[in-house]
Amino acid sequence: MTDLAFIPPAKPIIGDEERAAVDRVLRSGMIAQGPEVAAFETEFSAHFGLGRACVAVNSGTSGLHLGLLSSGIKAGDEVIVPSFTFAATANSVALTGATPVFADIALDDFTLDPDAVAASITERTKAIMPVHLYGHPAKMDALAALADQHGLLLFEDAAQAHGASLHGTPVGAFGTFGMFSLYPTKNMTSGEGGMVSCATAEVERNVRLYRNQGMLQQYHNEVVGLNNRMTDIHAAIGRVQLTKVDAWTAQRQANAAFLTAHLEGVTPPPVAPGAVHVYHQYTIRVPHDRDGLAKALKDEYAVGSGMFYPVPNHRLKPFQVDKHLPNTEQAALECLSLPVHPSLSQGDLERIVTAVNALAKAGA
Ligand SMILES: *Cc1c(COP(=O)(O)O)cnc(C)c1O
Repeated sequence: MTDLAFIPPAKPIIGDEERAAVDRVLRSGMIAQGPEVAAFETEFSAHFGLGRACVAVNSGTSGLHLGLLSSGIKAGDEVIVPSFTFAATANSVALTGATPVFADIALDDFTLDPDAVAASITERTKAIMPVHLYGHPAKMDALAALADQHGLLLFEDAAQAHGASLHGTPVGAFGTFGMFSLYPTKNMTSGEGGMVSCATAEVERNVRLYRNQGMLQQYHNEVVGLNNRMTDIHAAIGRVQLTKVDAWTAQRQANAAFLTAHLEGVTPPPVAPGAVHVYHQYTIRVPHDRDGLAKALKDEYAVGSGMFYPVPNHRLKPFQVDKHLPNTEQAALECLSLPVHPSLSQGDLERIVTAVNALAKAGA
């Protein structure tokens, strides 16, 4: 044990501006979905250069669910997803009645392997939904080509990737829809929340319908819908965070560059040619005793870390399938995410480097 101050693996940043914005909404007396949400949608799309309409919802998971429903995904369909992701990816597919079909990842960037996706296509496949895991864009060129060739839809789980891009195209602008999460530990937050970027006016209209009980006009319900609305309180927080997220991303990238320059004996997270990585996580692979390293980092150096994700989705109780996904299973055993968030001090970064280098050398 150590008396050093603990370096947390993630730390949401809420400032006076966010508090003032919430107060402004509370004082207005109109706190449910209203003008703040509408402004947030427009500003979010413009800020990330998405060039398409965005619809705000009450969580990233709701965003995936409504995006899938709005794209016509239904019972009997198959949607190809990675197993190496947060369970929300597969949950949202399953909640539409469709079947999530798990394909393996590539170990270079931990995102869907296009060859594994191709091998998973059946006559029931309707769509491919890659995850831009850890803030690194998925292999969208190859996946878009596959989708084209087989007449499939392409969706994006961009929950962790606000501002990431591939060859100049921002994530969230590739798919029929793309979802960004606004959960507190993501690169920006609204408290809870999600944003759905929509490729067509039809998908946008559908997301707005499903978000609000199937109504665009009060009491003229068109479909069976949910209440997945964002509140103006949350939108007000998100609007302030939009003005800060670029500086935070630049700090994440600078922190990642420092770690990559100074860590020894571990594989740093690679960045694909043409990719902008926004480092939601800085994830290394630890081939021997990853759990021991995580424990020693915490006990001896007070350095927090995360395992995303120790149990692949195809091994989770609701989804158990008898399928061997070798890269996914290897990543689940070896991945360790080190702190990279924008609140780290230079001293924190140096302590992380000292700790990992000492423990890796000792073979922890
Ligand atoms: C966080 C996350 C989600 C879900 O977002 P919520 O806002 O927590 O509902 C979905 N997919 C991935 C990859 C995530 O990291």
